[in-house]
Amino acid sequence: MKSAGRPGLCWYCGHAVLLVSDPPEHVIPDSMGGRLKTLRVCESCNHDAGRLIDAPFMKDMLIFWDRLLHLPASAKLPPQFEATLEDGTPVDLRMTGKGPWTANVRSSIKRDGDQIRIRARDQAEYERLLERVRKDLAKEGRELPADLGAPQPQELGEVRIATQLDGVVWLRMAAKITLGVLSLVVDEQWIRTPEAAKLRGWLWDENPQNPEGSPALAFPHQPTAKLDTYVPRPPEHLLYLHPAPGESTVGLRIVFFGTLFVSVEIELGGYDCPLKAWRTTYGQPVTETDFQALVMEATLAVHELDPPSN
Ligand SMILES: [Zn+2]
Repeated sequence: MKSAGRPGLCWYCGHAVLLVSDPPEHVIPDSMGGRLKTLRVCESCNHDAGRLIDAPFMKDMLIFWDRLLHLPASAKLPPQFEATLEDGTPVDLRMTGKGPWTANVRSSIKRDGDQIRIRARDQAEYERLLERVRKDLAKEGRELPADLGAPQPQELGEVRIATQLDGVVWLRMAAKITLGVLSLVVDEQWIRTPEAAKLRGWLWDENPQNPEGSPALAFPHQPTAKLDTYVPRPPEHLLYLHPAPGESTVGLRIVFFGTLFVSVEIELGGYDCPLKAWRTTYGQPVTETDFQALVMEATLAVHELDPPSN
């Protein structure tokens, strides 16, 4: 029987046979405005990448702040963070780019022997929780004392937010994006190369390693090429393939929100790789361009900026 599958294997795991029913995978997470998609990822890897790669990346400090600044007001997934008061009490924060931000102590009922402590964000919720306590006590054949007094309003004080900048999280995202990008432009036989295996290792390993055994990490960096000063258009994400030193090597620059640069060098093992580029952001179709066009853009920008020399 002939399967109705797409030809080829999954670029994220290297072994699952692709099916027509596999959902498109977002090369840059949808929740940060990535609209570029690949059809060369199996359903199982698509799910796992969302859970294991995209979700931790959304908690990254730098990505978090950029999302907060650039997320459209209509976005379905406002960033949320784990926050606490100084004494460790959990606080629910709602943040949107436009503000105002709101902080509410998470409601709780704490019983310690005869002591009962209710935390609530307002009077209505307090009454609701009090009713719950009353019912619980009734089941035990007990009653609330009559002289409870009014609840005590409490200042929240300082709210602390826990964020992280984790080189493993950045590396795994870079590996995912690299495989996604190459799946759009490089022959599928390339996934059999050692380089592809290395990237898949980085993608799925919780403790990714370099070939010689040291821990593999990635961190966002400042612009290192003149091109990077002129072509990113924040808050658009920019992905571009560029020439790299080496016989059969290509560079991939990932520019999150037009400001956070990550560089990957890829050994092509003799396969062709057109130097394509993509811009993508919230609510816009992906713009496809290429390295030469970006160089032109940068050159024009430089001429516009430089004063006349004569
Ligand atoms: Zn797969």
